Amino acid sequence: MIVRVLGSAAGGGVPQWNCACANCSAARAGGQPRRSSSGFAVSRDGEQWWLINVSPDIAAQIEAAPALQPRTGRGTPIRGFLLTDANVDHLGGLAVLRQQGEHSFTVYSSAIVRELALAQRAFAPFAEPPHVWRAVAAGERLTLEPGLLATVVAVHGLTPGYAGRKPLPDAVVAYLLQDESGGGEALFAPVFAEVGEALLSAAGQAGLAFLDGSFWSDRELDGVGVTKSARALGHAPVGGPGGSLAAFAERLPRASNCNVYFAHLNNTNPLLDETSDAAAQLGRAGFALAEDGLEFRL
Ligand SMILES: [Zn+2]
Ligand SMILES: [Zn+2]
Repeated sequence: MIVRVLGSAAGGGVPQWNCACANCSAARAGGQPRRSSSGFAVSRDGEQWWLINVSPDIAAQIEAAPALQPRTGRGTPIRGFLLTDANVDHLGGLAVLRQQGEHSFTVYSSAIVRELALAQRAFAPFAEPPHVWRAVAAGERLTLEPGLLATVVAVHGLTPGYAGRKPLPDAVVAYLLQDESGGGEALFAPVFAEVGEALLSAAGQAGLAFLDGSFWSDRELDGVGVTKSARALGHAPVGGPGGSLAAFAERLPRASNCNVYFAHLNNTNPLLDETSDAAAQLGRAGFALAEDGLEFRL
């Protein structure tokens, strides 16, 4: 199984167009990697690809990845999408991929995510032929293509801001992808509001895990004049007592088989500064930060 990080930032990226915080300024000055909005691509054979979330940055992410580019005529090696939630930065890229060609997409999401997405007219064509939009539920096991399976993992989460940030079941899910021919398992959990048992257990099973690294602390956005807390936005903070770092470090000690990367990094996150205390704590746990363009072969 091949896994590529298409984008490693939360919505807005690093730098974000309207932000001059320390990380955005460092990224503009070349002192930090630039990061586009969160998304991942997975393939069993390098020929057919499945995307976990599709951000508004998708066109540039495809241009940066030759394996995702059309081979001939009008088409794409992208077979479809697995959406973790209905946030615009996770499905807004569908509006970018609306040109027709010799392809049909299969979109997987929970029923509530499908309902919220399709209420926006721009996304409705993805539920009409030649495309298919399948509603799935936590615990379900899907066959994406022969030999490539995906298990829908339950996580705690909220509906997006435009839908009232309600804690509905399956408002957010994670996906555990499994290559049946012994190609490993990878967990994609870029958004979660709490670390639950299903998530910990899926990470324990995976050889590679991408976790919600949006915010280091709950009140981090105060620093840029935004009054919302991380938890109110549906993201468990990484740091501090009760943070996701402590929970995963306990379950996945350094000797575990799982390579853990924090992804979906908001530009306010001190983890982005490699000289920060937060970055040192992450390193001590044996975990790392995802970066755009990172590729793994399991
Ligand atoms: Zn996001
Ligand atoms: Zn910033």
